[in-house]
Order: sequence, then C-alpha cells, then structure tokens
Amino acid sequence: MVKRVVFDAVNAVLANLCREFRELNSGHVATYIPPLARADPADFGMALTSADGHRYQAGEADKPFTIQSVSKPFVLALALTELGADEVFRRVGVEPSGERFNAISLDPETGRPANPMINAGAIATTALVPAASAEQRFTRILETLGRFAGRSLDVDDEVYRAEAATGDRNIALAHLMRAAGSLAGDPSGVLDVYFRQCAIRVTALDLSVMAATLANGGVNPVTGARVVPEPVTVQVLAVMATCGMYDGSGDWLLRVGLPAKSGVSGGLVAVRPGRSGVGCYSPLLDAAGNPVRAVAALAELSREFGLHLMHNPPSGAPTIIRPGLSDGPDEAAWRQAGGGTAPGDLPAWVAAQGELDFTAAEQLVYALAERLPEVGRGRAVIDLVRVTAVDAAAEGLVRVVLDRLTAMGHRIGFVGDAAVPFSVEGTLLASRSAAVEWARLPS
Ligand code: GLU
Repeated sequence: MVKRVVFDAVNAVLANLCREFRELNSGHVATYIPPLARADPADFGMALTSADGHRYQAGEADKPFTIQSVSKPFVLALALTELGADEVFRRVGVEPSGERFNAISLDPETGRPANPMINAGAIATTALVPAASAEQRFTRILETLGRFAGRSLDVDDEVYRAEAATGDRNIALAHLMRAAGSLAGDPSGVLDVYFRQCAIRVTALDLSVMAATLANGGVNPVTGARVVPEPVTVQVLAVMATCGMYDGSGDWLLRVGLPAKSGVSGGLVAVRPGRSGVGCYSPLLDAAGNPVRAVAALAELSREFGLHLMHNPPSGAPTIIRPGLSDGPDEAAWRQAGGGTAPGDLPAWVAAQGELDFTAAEQLVYALAERLPEVGRGRAVIDLVRVTAVDAAAEGLVRVVLDRLTAMGHRIGFVGDAAVPFSVEGTLLASRSAAVEWARLPS
C-alpha cells in the first residue's frame, strides 16, 4: 500500500521522540488515587491526528488509562455549547490560578473558582452541564467525550471508586463552593459525576483524535461528525493556552507554544489549531503535575516543526502576484493585444491567489491603490482566478475600498469565480482575455 510509506514516515518521527525521551526517568507517578500508583513508569505513548483525520502513533499509544484532568476542556466545551460563554464564565473564571490543581482557588467575594482547568473550576463546570439527574449528566459527558474520541468510551470502575473514597479535598472544595453560592446543585451528585468523568478510560490515540477535533473547529476529523460549534473550540483553546498545564502553564506556553491539558494519570493533549492534535501518555509527573516525557517530547516536536503558535512565518507564496504574461497584461502583451500606449492606458491589474483573509485583502487593495492614477479616472482589473476562498472580513474591506474608488470615478472589473460577491460594485468578466478586451474599451 502506497499510503503505508507516509504512515511509516510520520510514525517514525513519533517513534524517534518516544525512544529519545523514554530515557527521562525523573518525576513520580501519582499515588493519591491508589490504583494510579500501579501505573508502569516505563510507559510512553504518543499519537498525532491531523485535521484531515490521518492518525499516527508510537510507543504505548494504545494503552488505556483514566483521562483525569484531560476531561476538563472537553466538559467545558459541552457546558459552553449548552449555555454559552456569558453564563459559563459568570460562574467560573478564566484567569490562571498560579496554584496547585487542587487549591482552594475561589474568589473571596463571589466564591467563583479561578478557571475551569483546576479541580474547583472543573467541578463547577460539571455542575453546569444541563441534565435532569446526576445519571443523565454523566451520560451526556461520557457521550460527548466519546464523540470527541470517535468511539464509545467506558469508565474504569476501580479508579472511580478509589477516587470517590479518597477524594476528601475535592469533596471539601465542592462544599466550600456550595457554601459560597458558586456551585449549582447538590455537591454529592456533582462530585459523583466528576469522579466518574475523571475515570473515563482513553488511550493516547483517543486523546490525539479528541485534540484534533478541537484543532478542526469542533468537527471530529475521523468520523466527520460535528461535536461542538467552532466558536466554542476557540474559547476552550484560549483557556487551555493560559491554564491547561497547572502552574507550569507559562513555561509550557513559552517552550511549546500550544494550547494543552495534562492530567495526573499522565495523559496530555496538545492542539495546533487548524492543523493537528497530539495525545500522549507518560505517567511520570514533574513537580507541577505534568508528564515529564510528554513535555520534553512536545518541546522538541514544536521546535523541530515550528509548531509554536507565536511563530507565524509569512506564508510561502505571496497572496498578491505581480502581474505578468500569464496573470494579466504587462506592457508588451497589452500592446500586442492592441491596447493604448499613452500613460494611463494600461489598466491597473492586480492578481491574488489562495485564501483571502483580512490581511490578504489589505494587500490586495493596497496593491490596487498603488497602481491606480493619483489624479483622473483609472481602470483596474482585479484578477481572482486563483483565489480559492474569501472570508467575511476580506469581503467587507474590499467592498468598502471599492465603493470609495468607484465613487471617485475609477472603473473596476473582476475575473474569477471568487469575484462573484464583488460584482455589484464592478463588472464581472468571464475570462482574462475578456478582461483585456474590457480594459481596452473607451471609458
Ligand atoms: N481526578 C483528579 C482529581 O480531581 C484529577 C486531577 C488531575 O488530573 O489534575 O484530583
């Protein structure tokens, strides 16, 4: 199979990272939930799912473990989908707490927890998921996480029971929030749902698909099903970027530069918006509670492949192409076609390619303005034959500029299917040669 070649090549990248960072043996396995102490400290699995739904993996990427805090962004996504950002963030803040995951991080005035990625905020978020009963609330959470993963998930009963039996701190947090008026509903029902949510079983491969669903604007790229609306993914990723890695979030953002969430069992998701999701499993945790090998491997991957979100090199191909023989008349071609040779006879010709967003549209109208005569009336062709998409911001900017230019007496013609939304302000021309003909017509 030819595709095998691609799988082998990408899997090898992950396998090399696994091999290199498996050597890191610092850190400790979490023990405060007794069954977690039995995790094999040697385990390290990595998986990557592209926004096209291609899945790659290495190491123990198929080994099941409990999701723990990695459930938090996905339950937040469910609450945001059901209630909207205003309602959710009225109850839970979005500021990094700078404290441990199980800290009593409640606003002294309102009792509002600092953010949904620490236990207090996550318990409050779970309580927000609309449901008639605790049972129904948990079913909704389990089903939603399953849709993110693209398969139905189950609960590790032993871990659930162990956490319910030893979760005094979480129990205390829920009651404190109840007393402060920041927890909706009965604390014991909410805690039961929260403990079960943390004990949902996943693999690193599942986590990569869940992360890729966030990367892909809420559509699971493997199943094709929409799980949450696109604006919700933006909100969740923003919270993950600032609060997802416990009190190591700043250092992580500096070194890796991707929205992420880790959990005490050693799971981690990292999201490259629009591109891919990574899932990791490595039970040895550093002092901040983050999986040591996964953090080191992701830092390397990010550096090697330029994944850091703040690193945005200009796109390779320019959006605005210099008009040449194939894209519009340069002076020789124009004369050959019988065009006038007096100054100003040559039409302003700007050609664009690819996707037009606000920045590209700004380049386009700027190039147009540079080519139109300062005085008198000019004629311009905007060549959008190679444009594949125009977003709303680009359309708005181009319209405003063209309105003004046509009011000044300039005449604008368009070529290409992407020109259709603009044709009300200008003339829609069927082809480049039709545009040359149009440009030759006396005004
Ligand atoms: N179930 C764990 C707890 O609430 C999750 C903590 C974590 O993964 O950070 O203590």
